Amino acid sequence: MKIICIGRNYGAHAKELNNEIPTEPVIFMKPKSAVLLPDKPLYYPEFTDDLHYECELIVKIGKNGKYIQEKFAHKYYSEISVGIDFTARDLQEKQKKKGLPWEIAKAFDGSAAIGRFVPVTEGMDLQKLHFQLKKNDELVQDGHTADMMFPVNKIIAYVSQFFTLNIGDLIFTGTPSGVGPVTVQDKLECYLEGEKLTEVNIR
Ligand code: MG
Repeated sequence: MKIICIGRNYGAHAKELNNEIPTEPVIFMKPKSAVLLPDKPLYYPEFTDDLHYECELIVKIGKNGKYIQEKFAHKYYSEISVGIDFTARDLQEKQKKKGLPWEIAKAFDGSAAIGRFVPVTEGMDLQKLHFQLKKNDELVQDGHTADMMFPVNKIIAYVSQFFTLNIGDLIFTGTPSGVGPVTVQDKLECYLEGEKLTEVNIR
């Protein structure tokens, strides 16, 4: 199982981090050991002083495929969720400056928090979904999938040129604006269409 993540998929977030608007999706991966199951706590890693949350829509692959055409991409998933792409922002900035890979900043244990998966129902449009992150009961990210620069089916087509997608793989589809730091004792809650799918307490 692998976790494929899209960076800079929302213009407003790319701008808040002073990143260029990409012409092709920015891809990175996390290993299976990064998964943080729903409602499990995250222990603040000792290697960072600037741990950030990034709330994202997650798509779970339900069928194996390679070179998937965009028009058929919808056949390759049947469950979605919302989770958090935890990022050691200080390490990421350091790596970015040197042009080095991001894994130590993005792929550490617990960095891929997933919510409960819900079925993609008939007629559901993945580009018309509202998702939110609350930090200590305050709304800090309020995203709409219509604002993605690369919609889910386009991401699947793009990614599957390089990597065979297997059943159970997860795609983190990028974060809207409003990312920010967390501290020990913070409570983070992820919502999809008003339904809470996970709560991560920082310990
Ligand atoms: Mg992200």
